[in-house]
Amino acid sequence: MQSSVIGYPRIGAHRELKFASEKYFRGEISASELRATASELRKLHWTTQRDKGVDYIPSGDFSFYDSTLDVAALLNVIPARYRELKVQDPIDVYFAMARGTQGVQGDVKALAMKKWFNTNYHYIVPELEDTTEIRVVDDSFFDGYRQAKELGIETKPTIIGPFTFLQQCRVVGTRAKESYEAELIAAYKAIVARAAELGVQWLQLEEPSLVRDLTEADRKRLVAFYDALASVKGATKLLIQTYFGDVRDCYEDLVALKVDGIGLDFVEGRQTLELVRNHKFPQDKVLFAGVVNGKNIWRNNYAKTLELLTELRTLAANLVVGTSCSLLHSPYSLQYETKLEETAKARLAFAQEKLGELHELSVLIEDANYQQNAAYIANGVANALQTHNDPAVQARVAAIKDADYTRLPAFEERMAIQRDAFKLPLLPTTTIGSFPQTAQVKSTRSAFRKGQISKEEYETFVKEQIAGCVRLQEELGLDVLVHGEFERNDMVEYFGENLAGFLFTVNGWVQSYGTRCVKPPIVFGDVSRPNAMTVKWSVYTQSLTSKPVKGMLTGPVTILNWSFPREDVSLKEQALQLALAIQDEVLDLEKNGIRVVQIDEAALREKLPLRRSDWESEYLVWAIPAFRLTHSKTKPETQIHTHMCYSEFTDIIPWIDAMDADVITFEASRSQLQILDSLKENNFKTQVGPGVYDIHSPRVPSVEEIEATLQKELEKVEQKKLWVNPDCGLKTRDVPETVASLSNLVEAAKRTRAKLQ
Ligand code: GLN
Ligand code: ZN
Repeated sequence: MQSSVIGYPRIGAHRELKFASEKYFRGEISASELRATASELRKLHWTTQRDKGVDYIPSGDFSFYDSTLDVAALLNVIPARYRELKVQDPIDVYFAMARGTQGVQGDVKALAMKKWFNTNYHYIVPELEDTTEIRVVDDSFFDGYRQAKELGIETKPTIIGPFTFLQQCRVVGTRAKESYEAELIAAYKAIVARAAELGVQWLQLEEPSLVRDLTEADRKRLVAFYDALASVKGATKLLIQTYFGDVRDCYEDLVALKVDGIGLDFVEGRQTLELVRNHKFPQDKVLFAGVVNGKNIWRNNYAKTLELLTELRTLAANLVVGTSCSLLHSPYSLQYETKLEETAKARLAFAQEKLGELHELSVLIEDANYQQNAAYIANGVANALQTHNDPAVQARVAAIKDADYTRLPAFEERMAIQRDAFKLPLLPTTTIGSFPQTAQVKSTRSAFRKGQISKEEYETFVKEQIAGCVRLQEELGLDVLVHGEFERNDMVEYFGENLAGFLFTVNGWVQSYGTRCVKPPIVFGDVSRPNAMTVKWSVYTQSLTSKPVKGMLTGPVTILNWSFPREDVSLKEQALQLALAIQDEVLDLEKNGIRVVQIDEAALREKLPLRRSDWESEYLVWAIPAFRLTHSKTKPETQIHTHMCYSEFTDIIPWIDAMDADVITFEASRSQLQILDSLKENNFKTQVGPGVYDIHSPRVPSVEEIEATLQKELEKVEQKKLWVNPDCGLKTRDVPETVASLSNLVEAAKRTRAKLQ
């Protein structure tokens, strides 16, 4: 059986592309040096795949920043403000769209960036203007194909398909999206025709949008697009590749199209197998079966996969074994993990190991006695290795009762009790947690990690930072203080490192956007909290001031969403284990005199299912209860805050209210009115602190500006429920701008209060 890879990571095993790009941005290397690095990486990635025996190797999956942006640039979807830049090399227009530019080239902001489906990868949102003329600007799309061909490797060029590309675009002018369709299809036809001319054997069109809820009109559009492309394909075969779910709304349309291959996801697509079972898969098409998970790091389960492939063989005459999505979402290779125990490593597979799995599966499926095959047996042995099973944790989760999800007394009563207990002014002021992580903070932490300074020295340093931070907040006149989070470099990693059940990699980098990579922790076993994680710091901070100090925790859903989750137990089970660990911490903080606790759920919205119809039944149904569990046992006078950011919440407002926090602060200064309207419409009960200024920018907001914002907020939120705070944590900001901004924030709150009383 043949094997296929949808896409390969491109940043480089040691993030070579990241470092070269950053050098280029700083003017330290030329565009041609950057291109040379890219070319070396591509070569390495193709030869690696070839050597591992992959039959369908992708080209065109490489990107200097993002694949959606690549298609936009290729199809001339370049807003006028970028065309007008004075650039030395055309790649600078591309980078300006990705990152903005300021200086000799001109002054433009970047295009918007959004999460790519349900991943932590972000794509650049192309803009369609009234004057946009869609056409293929040059032949560069096939550069990769040609380069690989010279190396003797026939690749499968891949590009985001027209249906998905158009969905991801944002119309900024007055035209309807449909008005771009004719040009768009003409351009894609030109690409297909060119592929045929070059003798390309297979062209892959990636259409993840097909796994979302589709309308009748969407289905018609899909059919029209691909009928048009099929008419010019000549001898080139077209593969429509879907991923991140199943295509239940358009399966019948897909199999009837005049294309040659259809790629389906059998990992995340819960209904994929049913679809193929219930409707005959056409004998003249190739089924590219996505069975090796492209976005999680666990070793494949051969027993299960081979059973699936065996059945698929009876359903589809032509079968290729493949990845479920691009391997872009996996780290490169386990070979660099020098610190992982062998028993842990044995259960994992990163991109390179996944290539090996594809190969082994393609061989095993041809072997009638595969169960006796050494590779099969080794896989079974590895998957049977269990680590960190903790019966006590499992029993504790099993013993959770319905009542454990409910905090008593109810919100309104708690609010009255807390008002008396805290005696805060109207419009209380606070911050989201972190204060600027100065170069000194970072270098001291890194010195500690490298063993260059002792634990005592490090902790003394952190205490000094905390003391300075408290002094500053008191001088500024803030009402509810924080400790500043100087001991953390990351809000998930810090907790992962302090909880049992997590594994950390040394080189498990995954691209998040452009040159930014993340190293998600791995939930490796049952999670529990051996020791208090934050109490020491919070208690120390509270000892320095008579004002209330917020204990600062990350919530269970966010920890889970920013980690690689287990696959042997449900997400719900993992979220509940995390919730119990956080509950322990909340109660310890309370016991030690901390009266306000913030439990951040920055990434709560991130893993909402792609189909709206699944939101409640598959995700919110356990995510919200997991959060409620963290605080349900607290005393009524303990004030629970939560914080959310990075996304729009308008569509899940009732669910956010159901988290039953006392106060929620969130990022709002960009889309303020919209969210305030929905709060009002939904009779939002929780007290709210919609951020009054954007912390992603070094700009200092004026007092008047913040006053105006507060005025607008007061039109929609009852004054007794309104808090005043920035959008998000301040860790990426400088000290001077932070002091100036917060001082204006406090002043604006004072002036607004004066008008209210
Ligand atoms: N408490 C965290 C901080 O202030 C919250 C960060 C976030 O929401 N992303 O840094
Ligand atoms: Zn935030």
